Amino acid sequence: MDTQTLLNYDREHLWHPYTSMEDPLPVYPVESAAGVRIRLMDGRELIDGMASWWSAIHGYSPPVLVQALQEQAVRMSHVMFGGLTHGPAVELAKLLVDMTPAGLEKVFLCDSGSVAVEVAMKMAIQYHHATGHPRRCRFLTIRSGYHGDTFHAMSVSDPQGGMHHLFAGSLPQYYFADRPECLFSHVWDGRDIASFARLIEQHHQELCAVILEPIVQGAGGMRFYHPEYLRQVRRLCDTFGVLLIVDEIATGFGRSGALFGCDHAGITPDIMCLGKAITGGTMTLAAVLATAEVGLGVSQGSPGVFMHGPTFMGNPLACHVACASIRLLLESDWQQKVGRIEQLLEEGLAPCRELAQVRDVRVLGAIGVVEMKEPVAMREIQAAFVERGVWVRPFGRLVYVMPPYCISAVDLQTLTAAIVEVVAGEGQ
Ligand code: PMP
Repeated sequence: MDTQTLLNYDREHLWHPYTSMEDPLPVYPVESAAGVRIRLMDGRELIDGMASWWSAIHGYSPPVLVQALQEQAVRMSHVMFGGLTHGPAVELAKLLVDMTPAGLEKVFLCDSGSVAVEVAMKMAIQYHHATGHPRRCRFLTIRSGYHGDTFHAMSVSDPQGGMHHLFAGSLPQYYFADRPECLFSHVWDGRDIASFARLIEQHHQELCAVILEPIVQGAGGMRFYHPEYLRQVRRLCDTFGVLLIVDEIATGFGRSGALFGCDHAGITPDIMCLGKAITGGTMTLAAVLATAEVGLGVSQGSPGVFMHGPTFMGNPLACHVACASIRLLLESDWQQKVGRIEQLLEEGLAPCRELAQVRDVRVLGAIGVVEMKEPVAMREIQAAFVERGVWVRPFGRLVYVMPPYCISAVDLQTLTAAIVEVVAGEGQ
């Protein structure tokens, strides 16, 4: 199929994320991707600033992951997980148990981030049901969060960003505390936890769990909040016997400068969701880790089993690639790489602070955010980035990047210079 035919068919028949079927935003046809370069079909190469939505932490097609994929494809791509097990799943479970905060021991392997959130929420409900508290079946979260696009994930995502009004009647109604205002590098202000503390105190008898993103609120606003907030949440959950689910789907595997967002606060959640970078962006896979107390609790009483078992649970191909990706990460000097990206993002994006159209510039680990005062014009801003040879995909008022950890200083400088130039142009 020639490029134009491909684009015509795509436009006519394919949904792309968050765009119209009738008048879709343009898409750029990709021929291949290697390292930090996305190669378009017309031969242009773009420096990747997005790591394909947090996932491609090692860049594209790193030889070690390609080799892992090939090895496992020859051995077996998939077998059902009901009644069978295999090396890749067991090895992955061991890596995850060893690298996550102490106490997380029981691993549920599933298909994607949103499914991991569904699984975690079901686990919390079943835990309380099995341990004699069936009335505890509701959730508390914080505003400006995002947990995915399936129904229960949506129900705990920010009501405005998640367009709750569109799905009113179909979505369960849960509790939302004010979002944390005390930011990562600010001095902690104890008043920040007041709204959350009030809600958990009022409603704990009907709450099974709190769910939130640790430290970094991603798609709900790209905000970095104070680790003390997370410590206070942990403390209040313990006080009121409410489980704590942390959604590390975006933050996991080093992105924020710590291996996991939780590590900034030194806490262990009861349940942790992982996804995105777990396979280094090669393919979809997610994991839900739980403490022994939750795992064994769910298994008490009736029905005595956890009610979830997807077809591709523990997919060997994805698990084997995930093992290779995690080893590649742990054997690398990822902390140094993320620290260097943090410093270059700080320096490179600093000129945006001077621009009247910019509300805020913030950086944490390998995440850089320019928050505009007004929403950007997607079609135009996307084209402006591509013209400058970089791949940056803003949304709403947010122009943000989270490049692969292997990006060179020169490429990162090209990326940030393009952002400064394009954002400056937005003011004209
Ligand atoms: N939780 C968070 C924090 C996320 O950022 C995302 C994806 N953007 C999800 C959950 C959902 O993951 P997926 O898109 O793989 O379903």
